[in-house]
Amino acid sequence: MGWLTDWRRKRVLEKHRIDETLWKTATAGLDFLPSTPKLRELVLLFLAEKEFTGTHGLRVTDAMRVSIAAQACLPILELGLDWYAGWRGIVVYPGDFRVRRTEVDEDGVVHEWDDELAGEAMPGGPVVLSWDAMTSDPAINVVIHEFAHKLDMLNGAADGVPPLHVGMDRRRWIAAFEEAYEGFCDAVERGKQTWLDPYAAEHLSEFFAVISEAFFREPEETRRHYPDVYDQLRLFYRQG
Ligand SMILES: [Zn+2]
Repeated sequence: MGWLTDWRRKRVLEKHRIDETLWKTATAGLDFLPSTPKLRELVLLFLAEKEFTGTHGLRVTDAMRVSIAAQACLPILELGLDWYAGWRGIVVYPGDFRVRRTEVDEDGVVHEWDDELAGEAMPGGPVVLSWDAMTSDPAINVVIHEFAHKLDMLNGAADGVPPLHVGMDRRRWIAAFEEAYEGFCDAVERGKQTWLDPYAAEHLSEFFAVISEAFFREPEETRRHYPDVYDQLRLFYRQG
């Protein structure tokens, strides 16, 4: 990123800090967040470099900003903020939002429908989040989910394969994920109870985002259910 970014970031860290009470309020209930000072530093930089916008009259408070930033910084704690470079905006809706979808099929017929979303990550663009989905459903973590998509999109398509580090084996990653994904889809199709949200069966990229949520919130369980995927995620997120 160069010396200018380094200098700006150094200044941000010198001049700002997060008030203890604010941090406690913002991260209440987010027990999976590590208490390392490194996370708070990253959050300060994140807040300095990203721009929050509320929609439909929602006022994004400092506590909301810090809460979103803290969760968003967890996946890049060992990677660095440059992994979220190239875009600025985080748009917060009070509740789930509707998006108009269009698709042209092979016969040239245009299909249009509305999707109700809790979050959306656009390639090179903003991350969109529903505050209600963030706070009311403990089974999902919309923030980690959407930011995992952001990492996945860094090398082009959202295909469940983010840019892997030197020394990681792409074939191993794909083999571990495909095996887990196929088994998971099979279980969902047969109507079995699944440990992960059945939404993960939508696409390999959704499986990556959903299991990234699990990896950070319930690492032990993730290792037990999906040891090979867990190993790959541990290498990618540089955890442990
Ligand atoms: Zn998703």
